[in-house]
Amino acid sequence: MHKNGLLSPPEGDKVTLSPDGTVQTPDHPIIGFIEGDGIGPDIWKASKFLFDAAVRHCYGEARKIAWMELLAGEKANKRCGTYLPEETLDAIREYGLAIKGPLTTPVGQGFRSLNVALRQKLELYACVRPIRHFEGVPSPVRNPHHVNMIIFRENTEDLYAGFELESGSEEALKLIQFCRDQFGWPIRQDSGLGLKPISATGTKRLVRAAIRYALAHNRKSVTLVHKGNIMKYTEGAFLRWGYEVAREEFAGAAVTWADCNGKPGDKLLVKDAIADITFQQVITRPKEFDVIATMNLNGDYLSDALAAQVGGIGIAPGANINYETGVALFEATHGTAPKYANLDKVNPSSLVLSGVMMFEYLGWTEVSEALTKAMTKTFRARTVTYDFARLMEGATTVKCSEFAHAVASNLGK
Ligand code: NAD
Repeated sequence: MHKNGLLSPPEGDKVTLSPDGTVQTPDHPIIGFIEGDGIGPDIWKASKFLFDAAVRHCYGEARKIAWMELLAGEKANKRCGTYLPEETLDAIREYGLAIKGPLTTPVGQGFRSLNVALRQKLELYACVRPIRHFEGVPSPVRNPHHVNMIIFRENTEDLYAGFELESGSEEALKLIQFCRDQFGWPIRQDSGLGLKPISATGTKRLVRAAIRYALAHNRKSVTLVHKGNIMKYTEGAFLRWGYEVAREEFAGAAVTWADCNGKPGDKLLVKDAIADITFQQVITRPKEFDVIATMNLNGDYLSDALAAQVGGIGIAPGANINYETGVALFEATHGTAPKYANLDKVNPSSLVLSGVMMFEYLGWTEVSEALTKAMTKTFRARTVTYDFARLMEGATTVKCSEFAHAVASNLGK
């Protein structure tokens, strides 16, 4: 695994999964990190400083993270001639989790996106994106504090699976002819084609994870977001299989809208909403949404649209998780913003809050709570990076590293 001299695992122990699926975290867990390209090194440095400070604040010397650098992106390409070394994938599989900054998508290297490649190769089927508002953070809506949702987006299927054929290519013409001959579908000859696979397997494991999360975190509802009225055998099937999971696997703890007429009592309510109206209602009636489970494309759009309500991508965290293998990759959800690289200027909150999700996942809830409280206090004091400062009155603009120091000084206050 260390043949390119890429990795030298530090002293520490592996995070493991017990047979019942519970994460077992040792006191000195080895955690991989990919610092990322562009603004990645700046936000990683700030975040790592804060993570170590928060762990020390909560546990003194009793617990400490053993960070292990993993290479991907431009740094990997410079050192070993590939943007995504196998060693990095192997290490994430072996150590179970990693946290990453943004990665540039290399042009003409056979990768559509390094991020998509990481998710697919590690089969990280659930993209988990919490969306909540921090007091003081600028928002375009009147009641941003009503927004508290968590999106479970299916990560491996749908139109993003990569089954696409270019207009005019031999393969596209062949498939168009096949569809005409076999199904009588009059697809135009000059069409590009994309396949939208939605499986019972992919749907059920995603909805299962969303319901489990909702139950474990005392959330009130899971909404299945779909466009099944139009795409009956893909998005409509997602809806049907989603409800099957609720009925067949969670009968004692969850109930579908149809089975309780919208009155779930003390059970978790599983309901659905059509995608287009969802985009309206998450703005007009945000309190009605809690956990959301949806397919890849809907989930991609919805995550960023929702993030806009609570401060934008600079503050939106994310994780990509396979709950069966226990492999999890926590990540800043924005890109590499190359024009701000190495200026120590941008907002590290997206990566810091991805770390908050990681500490929750590890069961170190004292750390995630301490970090959340300290961030809240810092935003309330209007000590923010330029992106927030320009939308706030009376703000103190600080650098990326200074923001991390300000949050660290608020730990425990
Ligand atoms: P981007 O997110 O990098 O930047 C868009 C704009 O958002 C920036 O110009 C900046 O104004 C703002 N912004 C982003 N992050 C910020 C932060 N932390 N603080 C303050 N402002 C911030 O999107 P892009 O320009 O479309 O993409 C640039 C590169 O990033 C591309 O190569 C793309 O493929 C890649 N990308 C990577 C990821 C990922 O690694 N998860 C996600 C999206 C894009």
